[in-house]
Amino acid sequence: MRLPVPAAFPTLLRLLAALALFIFSVAGEAAADCGEHKDAEGGAEVMRVALMIDDGPSANTLRLLKVLADAGVKANFDLVGRNCEADPELVLAIRDAGHDILNHSYAHGVPANMSTEALSEDVAKGRQALKDITGEFPRFYWPPYIAIDPRHAVILDECALTMPITSTLVGASDYDMSVSAEQIRDLSISKAQDGSLILFHETRDETVDMMPAIIEGLKARGAVFLTYSEMHAYLKAKQGK
Ligand SMILES: [Zn+2]
Repeated sequence: MRLPVPAAFPTLLRLLAALALFIFSVAGEAAADCGEHKDAEGGAEVMRVALMIDDGPSANTLRLLKVLADAGVKANFDLVGRNCEADPELVLAIRDAGHDILNHSYAHGVPANMSTEALSEDVAKGRQALKDITGEFPRFYWPPYIAIDPRHAVILDECALTMPITSTLVGASDYDMSVSAEQIRDLSISKAQDGSLILFHETRDETVDMMPAIIEGLKARGAVFLTYSEMHAYLKAKQGK
């Protein structure tokens, strides 16, 4: 007499095998999404990063531009309107070097502490300061302290500005003076992964001192350096936004 149970075993085993294969392939895809990617053309490891340089222009801007030029790397400058008005030549030097420029407000206030009117004026003045100097309105608004306020949506819409994707931001907290030059270097390099926005402050001397080593370390990890415009398009496609 044959029992129906053994006959069912092969089917069960096939189902389990299929399930295991499914889990394995999903895990593999997830790992690939989080890690470095193969370049479709050359087969080399590629890690797309964008260097986000806050709070300029400053006394360090020209030195930083030289470092970036020597390394053949494009970065993104999040410029404060009142600093731009104080030194418009530096804004033009950044623009002429081919880096992306983002509106980082006019006076770098804390959005949550500002009235809606003051916040709106701060965004618009920062935008206008860049237009007056470069002849072009910036495309993106980079909020001070990465503090995205619910009121920004309406304000940015009125100014034809786009809020950046900041969810992939990493950094070494170089605004914190207790973070050493070596920590800025090591954390910036080690935290980066494909799609990272790496945050720096050009007002911190040690950040600019370490930038050649940071770029070298990132290149050793397979980094390619995107403008924010390029990264935005990449992250949107990747995150399905
Ligand atoms: Zn800032």
